Amino acid sequence: MLNIIICGAPGSGKGTQSALIKDKYNLLHLSTGDLLRAEIAAKSELGRIAEGYIANGQLVPDEMIINILDKAIEEKEAAAQYNGLILDGFPRTVAQAEALEGLMQKRNKDLSVLLDLTVEEDELIDRLIKRGQTSGRSDDNLETIKKRLDVYHEKTEPVNDFYKKQNKYVSVEGTGTIEEIFGRICEVLNKY
Ligand code: AMP
Repeated sequence: MLNIIICGAPGSGKGTQSALIKDKYNLLHLSTGDLLRAEIAAKSELGRIAEGYIANGQLVPDEMIINILDKAIEEKEAAAQYNGLILDGFPRTVAQAEALEGLMQKRNKDLSVLLDLTVEEDELIDRLIKRGQTSGRSDDNLETIKKRLDVYHEKTEPVNDFYKKQNKYVSVEGTGTIEEIFGRICEVLNKY
């Protein structure tokens, strides 16, 4: 089984690369951002709560996102055969990383590696502003992008140290063409 986390700052290309990785390695792709946007589109109670946090560039509460992810693994894993999981946008706090250990243990799964896509801040902002012209996302505007980057540095970067201590952290340069970046990722994943 290949169970991986793809992480990096907003705009680092997690979603784009996850789509390529899941196809090549037949992994179940779970993006917590996509799961939340689906709740918002469905006008559920969870979606109504999440909407405000997302539009403000803040993280939704840990307990809420952990429950959403747990439920999504349960439902989607039963629907098809996969060679593992790719978690995109989770964990975003150390508390989520700790909770993930429990979610994996109860399913007899082991995390293979965390891939951290690294991109300079100026490029992240350019990419997100460009994406905002077509994404229709409430959080792809300059003011919210800056807040998301602050939250990333404060709450999500410490997650990297959590996995460095377990020797499961690998950084991948996230600039260049989509194919070049994917090539670097495959070089890492082919070792697992
Ligand atoms: P993303 O699509 O990964 O950029 O996520 C968009 C937004 O959804 C984030 O800015 C957060 O508000 C929320 N979100 C996504 N994943 C998480 C998570 N693991 N923990 C808390 N909030 C999250």
